[in-house]
Amino acid sequence: MSFGGRLTLVKSVLNSLPLYYFSLFRAPPCDFIDDIGVPFRSSFVKKIGDGASTSFWNEVWLGSSPLKNRFKRLAHLEDDLAAMADSWAWILGANGLFKTKKLTELIDEKIIQTNVGASETLKNNLVPKKVEIFVWRARKGRLPVLTELDKRGIDLNSVRCPICDNDIEHLDHALLSCKLSKDIMERIFDWWRMGNLPSNYVRELLEGNSGHNLSDMGKIIWQAVIWSTVYLMWKNRNDKVFKNKCWSVPVAVNEIQVKSFEWIARRCKSKKIEWHNWLHNPLLCIE
Ligand SMILES: [Zn+2]
Repeated sequence: MSFGGRLTLVKSVLNSLPLYYFSLFRAPPCDFIDDIGVPFRSSFVKKIGDGASTSFWNEVWLGSSPLKNRFKRLAHLEDDLAAMADSWAWILGANGLFKTKKLTELIDEKIIQTNVGASETLKNNLVPKKVEIFVWRARKGRLPVLTELDKRGIDLNSVRCPICDNDIEHLDHALLSCKLSKDIMERIFDWWRMGNLPSNYVRELLEGNSGHNLSDMGKIIWQAVIWSTVYLMWKNRNDKVFKNKCWSVPVAVNEIQVKSFEWIARRCKSKKIEWHNWLHNPLLCIE
């Protein structure tokens, strides 16, 4: 691996990954990665160049020391490493290159593997791809809610809902029955004059037809609104877990109205959707 690559690795392991994955876990990062089935510690192989030096922080990749005794001298390292002619290859990545994104994907795959049977893909062209993918993951039970992580043997401090602390965090709780989620979703149903929530199950809500009295186009737009809502609620949940920030209901509803308009109005070719109508009576947008 190039010098830049090595530094990227160092910084990734020390910064990005701990932030998104490890703040929840007591286990050391690299043990954790190995434990879930991604052979991280053995995924680097030396490619000897001039043989002048092959010690990257005198080795023992993050397991139990050296790494120059736990990262104390990062600044020194940059200098030391610059002199190295040997290189490293990361066998899990394309062309031996280490990429945080690839490692994240591998971890995700392992964490969220599930036995839930394959369900058909649902499409909705009015939302960004990331929302479609999120919905697919939610329907397949592949979101890393705490009970799912716990089932997969990950050592957690608690599986209680990080937002309300009143129940364990499973999918339906996180996205529907948690008080915050329920309040937000009810407000979204009010905004669209859709009556009461039709289900306590997220999958039914994502797949179902709560807008059965709408036109065909209206159904697609309403589904896009529900999907956007659930996606943004999950984002808020992650903000709470990782940054200790959490929406109030009015802020959430406003954010959902703005974002869903931004996503849906731009993608909707057959209707011109006006912001004023969207906000005050969205049914006018789909007549
Ligand atoms: Zn909750």
